[in-house]
Amino acid sequence: MGRILIVEDEPQLLRAMRINLRSRGHEVRTAVDGGHALREAASHPPDLVVLDLGLPDLDGIDVIRGLRGWTRVPIIVLSGRTSGHDKIAALDAGADDYVTKPFSVEELLARIRAVTRRAGGAETGPVITIGRHRIDFAAKAVTTLPDLDSAQTPGSEPAPGSEPAPEPVQAPESVRLTPTEWRLLAVLVREPGKLVASRSLLDQVWGPGHADDTSSLRLYVNRLRRKLEPDPSRPRHLTTEPGMGYRYQP
Ligand code: CA
Repeated sequence: MGRILIVEDEPQLLRAMRINLRSRGHEVRTAVDGGHALREAASHPPDLVVLDLGLPDLDGIDVIRGLRGWTRVPIIVLSGRTSGHDKIAALDAGADDYVTKPFSVEELLARIRAVTRRAGGAETGPVITIGRHRIDFAAKAVTTLPDLDSAQTPGSEPAPGSEPAPEPVQAPESVRLTPTEWRLLAVLVREPGKLVASRSLLDQVWGPGHADDTSSLRLYVNRLRRKLEPDPSRPRHLTTEPGMGYRYQP
């Protein structure tokens, strides 16, 4: 049992899978095209994705690449094509298994059980530190370590007879990243110290058709710097190679 995202543009098949998986106790969300699938996966991270390769907008392979930019969620591909080439391309892009259409519900359920067993249930991901921020990609959480230089600010004694000053609430500082910022950071940290070309970043984070949108990319990198870098005006961990791309420096 778990959260399953089904991506399928044929209404009858989508409905049949949704009913069958829900009746087995899975929590099911659905998407009818690739863009919808990527947004849905980012806003409601699933435990498993069932993905049709033939979608009206994106190629299913591009959806796999988009997901693999930031998650290791198991992906089972549905392929209606007779050519084995698509299945190979899907597996190479990061799919875990495939089912050839037409298939029985029992076969799909068996594949879901198999990839869930192999995935071991929990998703894992890297944990990195940028400045005082500990960034856990599996938990999608940023925790901020205390600033030792300013933690011990001496407080003044309350005047005699006055109300005791309330204890300062030490709320743990937290930084929130948006799904797009998580994806962008995930692509950069996958290759520490290496230059990642702007074009490649745009393709992996925003998908095909955005290869020239370098101003959006610059905007998002700057937002990550403001949230994470100790001195955002002089970035040390998320650096720019002018005219080429960006680099994550551990
Ligand atoms: Ca289709």
